[in-house]
Amino acid sequence: MSEIPNYLRFGYITPEELFSIIPKPSEDRLRKRPVAVPECPQQIPCTPCKEICPTNAVIMEHPNDIPKVDYEKCIGCSLCVQVCPGLAFFMIHYVGDRARITMPHELLPLPKPGEEVVLLDRVGEKVGKGKVVSVVPREKARGDTPIITVEVPIELAWDVRAVKVVRE
Ligand code: SF4
Ligand code: SF4
Repeated sequence: MSEIPNYLRFGYITPEELFSIIPKPSEDRLRKRPVAVPECPQQIPCTPCKEICPTNAVIMEHPNDIPKVDYEKCIGCSLCVQVCPGLAFFMIHYVGDRARITMPHELLPLPKPGEEVVLLDRVGEKVGKGKVVSVVPREKARGDTPIITVEVPIELAWDVRAVKVVRE
């Protein structure tokens, strides 16, 4: 009997599982400009990410297909992150020894640009601190979800998938 994937047993996908399903962007590509990475491993009838993409970088031949991205076609506009109802699209950009992660943020409060935040991994455990680079609030996002871009140590690029705002 085949092993049940982590994302079905525990509700989160590990980077190893993810990159057994979709290709990982090369380091060169990650350094060139932000690149969108879908973390959507289940075959569900859903296509907003494909429909909104201005460069046809999101590859799905059938609405039930698992989305993949043509990383060379991706211009890093973040629209897929803004509209994904499953909060499953992220953008990554390597800058020196840091990584900038663009992610949905549905918790309150919304952080502010320049604010230091607690970094949370895929399980919700604290893994360090990072700095918010930019924020697209709900009223400016194309979907209903605010998105934020956070700068983190590069070794956490594939671990951090949420942040917590802690204000004294
Ligand atoms: S970031 Fe923009 S260009 Fe890249 S896959 Fe998403 S919608 Fe398409
Ligand atoms: S919009 Fe989000 S949930 Fe729907 S297929 Fe695309 S990545 Fe998956």
